[in-house]
Amino acid sequence: MERSFDLGDKLKVLAAAARYDVACAATGLRGCRKRRWGSPPLGVCHVWAEDGRTVSLLKVLLTNRCVNDCAYCAHRSSVDGPRTAFSPEEIARLTWELFHRNYVEGLFLSSGVWKSPDHTMELMIRAAELLRERYSFTGYIHLKVIPGCDPSLVRLAAHYADRLSVNLELPKEDSLSRLAPQKDFQEILSIMSLLGELARDGKEAERKGLGRNAVMPGGHTTQLVVGASSDDDVSILSTAQRLYEEFKLRRVYYSAFIPVAEDPRIPGVRTPPLQREHRLYQADWLIRFYGFRAEDLLDPSRRYLDPDVDPKLDWALRHPDFFPVDVNKDGRERLLRVPGIGFVSAGRIIKARKSRAIRWEDLPRLGVVTKRARPFITCAGKPDFEGLDFSVLSEWWMEGARERVLGGLVGTGALDGGQLRLPGFS
Ligand code: SF4
Repeated sequence: MERSFDLGDKLKVLAAAARYDVACAATGLRGCRKRRWGSPPLGVCHVWAEDGRTVSLLKVLLTNRCVNDCAYCAHRSSVDGPRTAFSPEEIARLTWELFHRNYVEGLFLSSGVWKSPDHTMELMIRAAELLRERYSFTGYIHLKVIPGCDPSLVRLAAHYADRLSVNLELPKEDSLSRLAPQKDFQEILSIMSLLGELARDGKEAERKGLGRNAVMPGGHTTQLVVGASSDDDVSILSTAQRLYEEFKLRRVYYSAFIPVAEDPRIPGVRTPPLQREHRLYQADWLIRFYGFRAEDLLDPSRRYLDPDVDPKLDWALRHPDFFPVDVNKDGRERLLRVPGIGFVSAGRIIKARKSRAIRWEDLPRLGVVTKRARPFITCAGKPDFEGLDFSVLSEWWMEGARERVLGGLVGTGALDGGQLRLPGFS
């Protein structure tokens, strides 16, 4: 028999349970920051919005009850533990109270599958409806879509939510059917396709100035679990790239698998692969904003991102023929390939060189990290220094990775007598 919970107990259990759902690239317990005047109330999490602002959300599950038995999940039906659920009224009231007192700007609501996907989705929609209709709530609402629910419920959820997301969890169909037998990969993709349509409508409505009446102005996202299956980084990044291109996702979030309860279907994982998650976020960023393709970064012969070298530097070191890039002549696309030149600094370079030629001493002011960029660029027609020795390289990446990266350069012609030779450097 389930024990009874008061509202405080429910909040304790269901806020802790929500930490497995990613609301932004740096969230969960790691990303939660304390307010200056003390700890945030239970369930309140501070996340970073896409424009760099910190946003506080009430982040909870509707319930941690679940009829499914996904091997990577702490709430799966075969795991013992306290189970409880909020009512839609409790969620709406709690969110409103915290919003009203300026503790949160919105709600992030996810859930296990309670009785059925439709039943769960209806309760989540009811909570959002109460907030919007009864409390005239103008804050942000992010709802998770429960895979398997009726498409009409997805449309209804979009009516109330700023953002919807459906978790694909694993990058390949066979991995998902092995680890989450009750889930259907193709069905999740068809929900994503519907969400893509709704997000497009939302964008159009926003463009027409319909503001809050816009459907799902925050678009849709998904989450991939990293390390729960034997899927490599090639599969993860290729799938993410496909989701961006085909279904117009706003974001793919990567969640390092947290081993909570053992399952024979999961490879032996002792600690969450946080560094791998971090490198995937960096690679994802390169795909979304820097014109990289998943296949630029990895291929079947290099199936994992290097844990010790950021993916952009790694790519640059493997493509010496591409360099040097001339900061006074080359276009944005080439500038963005240079380690140490970011999206903003590339824009500044292009703007600044319209009035006069850029000199080496101008680069830091334009936001270029010269320590990283200088071996890969020329400025005013000349490189900054002759060749590149091991002592400089060791400043860039951690000991241990150095040998491996340099090992990868053997045979490319870039290594010569202990010196890294890049074209244009004598
Ligand atoms: S359906 Fe969701 S909550 Fe239920 S076991 Fe699977 S991942 Fe966990």
